[in-house]
Amino acid sequence: MSVAKKTRYTSVSDLKQAGLLPGCDSHAYEDLAGRYAVGVNAQVERTLAGTDNPLLDPVGRQYLPSPEELKVLPEELGDPIGDLPHSPVKGIVHRYPDRVLLKISNICAVYCRYCFRREMVGPGQDVFSDDDLEAALGYIEATPAIWEVILTGGDPLVLSARRLEDVLSRLNRISHVQVVRIHSRVPVADPQRITDTICNVLKSSGRPIYLVIHINHAQEITPEVEVALAQLRAAGCSLLSQSVLLKGVNDDPAVLESLFRRLIGLHVKPYYLHHPDLAVGTGHFRVTIERGREIMRALQGRLSGICLPRYVLDIPGGYGKVPVEHSYAVLLDEGRYVVEDIDGNLHFYPPRVEAADG
Ligand SMILES: *Cc1c(COP(=O)(O)O)cnc(C)c1O
Ligand code: SF4
Repeated sequence: MSVAKKTRYTSVSDLKQAGLLPGCDSHAYEDLAGRYAVGVNAQVERTLAGTDNPLLDPVGRQYLPSPEELKVLPEELGDPIGDLPHSPVKGIVHRYPDRVLLKISNICAVYCRYCFRREMVGPGQDVFSDDDLEAALGYIEATPAIWEVILTGGDPLVLSARRLEDVLSRLNRISHVQVVRIHSRVPVADPQRITDTICNVLKSSGRPIYLVIHINHAQEITPEVEVALAQLRAAGCSLLSQSVLLKGVNDDPAVLESLFRRLIGLHVKPYYLHHPDLAVGTGHFRVTIERGREIMRALQGRLSGICLPRYVLDIPGGYGKVPVEHSYAVLLDEGRYVVEDIDGNLHFYPPRVEAADG
């Protein structure tokens, strides 16, 4: 395998110079990177190679800044899923009794244009210091209801192996923390970071590790990504995926079908398909819940059940995630339901019993 080219673009003008923003008047949004972090690396660039217009490419669209981001709609929010009301100490979000988010990094390997935490991630943001980590671990230790800790950010896998090892071994010493989950874009967006050292750290964790990779399109699965996933699996991680439903990227049943089939082929179980959040300046990515349901209905029953994620919405204001899929069963009365099959035909449940003659 060829050695990765060391490239990283962090501004609109960098990208323009590299020919990644064809036909764009970069002056119109030159300073966008001052507001939202820009980050495109060699892995993303390789995935784009050969496309006529990177701005219309399903991977390019995820990372290349667009003047459309300057458009702010009244319903858009700086903290779209309501992390702040549920943050008892810095870096912790405790919304559900048995699990917490531990945001140990505020930087990412790349920056997604639709990011739901775009106002909180990036190089200019408030860092998570050693003291912050102590306070966050103290909270977890003092809260026996916490069964699972979810490392997120930013991206936890951009941290050094030593830092990660330190956090995992600290969690390992808290007896009520039985499971560690890691949410990361790194295996897909920067697979070279999945080194033997990182894998050894994950392997030596005393708790089951569930790694949820963030991926939106099958085109993101390069040979390097396949290698990284195989290494993570060999390190004993259980692999899941989450995707965001995005206009112009994957708002199409055929696109999601091929993504989910590829993932299952790589031992990654599709976990969540997120309805896009109301993050500021992301209106050009948004689809309706009706469209999302239609897409999921097109897949239900036609795609193996193991390929299908839950389609979820994170309710703005901090009310949590719920499935918003089409409901196939409607309660009529007296415990009787009408249930729809995958072809749209309706059936009673329990079935009507024909009255016997006489
Ligand atoms: C998404 C989220 C979780 C994880 O939810 P699951 O449904 O278990 O995947 C936990 N805490 C917070 C605050 C979240 O936003
Ligand atoms: S990797 Fe996650 S946190 Fe980082 S920019 Fe993308 S969506 Fe946001």
